[in-house]
Amino acid sequence: MPQSVKISVRALVEYVFRSGSIETGFKTTSSLIEGTKAHQTIQKTYSEADAAEVFLQTSYAYEDIDYIVEGRCDGLLLQDEMVTIDEIKSTGKKLEDITRDSNPVHWAQAKCYAYMYLKKEEKEDVRVQLTYVQVESGEQKRFQEECTLPELEDFMLHLVKSYAPYAKLRLHNQQQRNESIRELPFPFDRYRNGQRNFAGAVFKTIADKKTLFANAPTGTGKTISTLFPAVKAIGEEKAEKIFYLTAKTLNRKNAEEALQLMKDKGLFLQSVTLTAKDKVCFKEETRCDSSYCEFADGYYDRINGAVLDVLKHETIMDRDVISEYAQKHRVCPFEFSIDLAYAADSVICDYNYVFDPRVSFKRLFEEQKKRTVLLMDEAHNLVDRARGMYSAEIQKSVFLQLSREYKGKNDGLWRTTKAINDEMLKLKKEHGEKKVAVSDLPEAFISCLDDFLVQAEQLLASGESDEKLLEAYFAALQLIKISGFYDERFVTFIDVFKSEVEVRLFCMDPSHLLFQTGKKYGSRVFFSATLSPLSYFREMLGGVEEDYVIRMPSPYEKEQLDVFIQPLSTRYKDREKTIEPIMEMIIELVDKRPGNYLVFFPSYRYMSDVVDRLLEEDPPFHPIVQHPAMSEEEREKFLANFDSAGGESLVGFAVMGGIFSEGIDLKGDRLTGAVVIGVGLPQVGLERDTMKEYFQNAGKSGYDFAYVYPGMNKVLQAGGRVIRSEEDRGTLVLVDDRFLSRKYLEMLPEEWRDFVVLKE
Ligand code: SF4
Repeated sequence: MPQSVKISVRALVEYVFRSGSIETGFKTTSSLIEGTKAHQTIQKTYSEADAAEVFLQTSYAYEDIDYIVEGRCDGLLLQDEMVTIDEIKSTGKKLEDITRDSNPVHWAQAKCYAYMYLKKEEKEDVRVQLTYVQVESGEQKRFQEECTLPELEDFMLHLVKSYAPYAKLRLHNQQQRNESIRELPFPFDRYRNGQRNFAGAVFKTIADKKTLFANAPTGTGKTISTLFPAVKAIGEEKAEKIFYLTAKTLNRKNAEEALQLMKDKGLFLQSVTLTAKDKVCFKEETRCDSSYCEFADGYYDRINGAVLDVLKHETIMDRDVISEYAQKHRVCPFEFSIDLAYAADSVICDYNYVFDPRVSFKRLFEEQKKRTVLLMDEAHNLVDRARGMYSAEIQKSVFLQLSREYKGKNDGLWRTTKAINDEMLKLKKEHGEKKVAVSDLPEAFISCLDDFLVQAEQLLASGESDEKLLEAYFAALQLIKISGFYDERFVTFIDVFKSEVEVRLFCMDPSHLLFQTGKKYGSRVFFSATLSPLSYFREMLGGVEEDYVIRMPSPYEKEQLDVFIQPLSTRYKDREKTIEPIMEMIIELVDKRPGNYLVFFPSYRYMSDVVDRLLEEDPPFHPIVQHPAMSEEEREKFLANFDSAGGESLVGFAVMGGIFSEGIDLKGDRLTGAVVIGVGLPQVGLERDTMKEYFQNAGKSGYDFAYVYPGMNKVLQAGGRVIRSEEDRGTLVLVDDRFLSRKYLEMLPEEWRDFVVLKE
């Protein structure tokens, strides 16, 4: 039986016809809104007999493979004797700069639809038309060509023949993958306590195409417990692709190691890890311009060869492997990794590749998403990360400067930047010099941004390079995009400080958008060691009633951790009074139980007050202190101090919610204990208070949603640093009287509940 490969028209023609270089930061596509408008404007001029957005599909057999090609054609014009296939393209460029051969991909797209139409209707000839629409003026330019079926057959043959080596390789690899999965055993000798249940729940979630929320404490082996069943589900054809999403490098490494373990047991599965562009870039500056970067220059002429080469020889395509092949084929390592992600069985990357409207995988078509599993590690981070992804801001000074720069030089830009500046001045007058929260979207302001985009795009498309204009263009584009999501879950912050005005569209509650994006995928597994309280996270991450939920017990013995509570008030007004008792407690703790400790504070200020006082006492340990904005090297150095115990005791002072309170794995004697000072409440301010009000009005406990739960999560993360393996023993001291209140007691994990109360 011939095998089949499904592919969209766009993916097929881009694979074959994309050529040349990676363009500079600005792509010559028109702005989102104007582009859609342009399409609709043309489609509205169609007669009744014509049809817009027509779904077409065809099957083309070549060398034992059936290629199922599908897509949506912009227009079928049926009023003439000869049918016309209309392909609409909006552009910010001047129309005189657009020629018949400006973009071969456009012709190829149109011809593909033409072929599909002729096959479907059993006709012999058709007219192919490219309609370019200038977004600002609405002017149109058309190119036409008449094609016969034999000509289009030749064209399709060329397309499919060029694509075939890639398709064959992928089919071959998929077959090898499925065979290897069938034989794959669990890569450890035994399942840990509860691990089999967890893995089973993940498999069921994927098979049932559902969502799972899993609180999986440290030690439950959450990476392998999610990846192993997801791989098995691919083998049983219940899924095709895995996205392993996480916010931290350490977790990306864990996922790679889990895949390596399975590879050692015989698994053949192609996985790619995406790393941030500025981290993998080969050049001194990340300037993706063909005149500066040889890896951008001619990228598309070499990329297909590079992809085939790596897919032929590698399975775990981590940062090093990608760099090696990118050097070999002289292609940009970042763009290369993105191209590979479309082909890989598993993609390990940051959350933003799936959830951020600016960067999501645009070429992954809907049906592929339906066959993709989302595994979201450390999902407690996703709430705030999503708030960031669905928020956007703009400053007045940027537009004031641009309006001065373009006065007398470019009337359109001067006019539109000035209008934005004026609108922001109006907001300043209306609200005064302070930060305010406004529930309505500032429509007039958004409309000014829209006008600016059209003007900026026109200039940028003509090849003008102006860094500031480009930055303003992207900021405006992002804000407009976010304004499209704006509803009662959003708020606008207007922040006036001296002559500066900032407008920020802020997403208070991202649950709806996470749900909307997540539901396009086959199944979703949200998991974390601290997805607690589970009901809060389920709600914030877009969960619904029928979702699956699993709470795993800690696999460690209670006896491994000694927990103490020192019932001091660490509320802001009482902090001064606590310096002395906290200092004494730390000295006594290290004195009685020598070793390495981490002490977490709610703020740098509080931390330095205690550290300064401690240093006066000549403490019985070596102190090291976190400072703001530490480089990666400084961070590594800080952690390297935590060698195995034995020598002098060490105390690392750090802030809660910072780089040392999460994602740090100091096993064995490297960490003897932790002290967590305060309940982690976020700083009180307009942002949090506005959220509190929103959640309160939505019928929830506003204070808990805005302050208590996010704070307690930081406490759980910081305290969770101590016991990292079955052999670990350690001490945890929680400093705050609120930990003894019923509300907080209920939020303590089971294994922290046998605590001893220290003197105040
Ligand atoms: S190598 Fe660096 S500068 Fe060159 S295209 Fe890639 S990211 Fe841009």
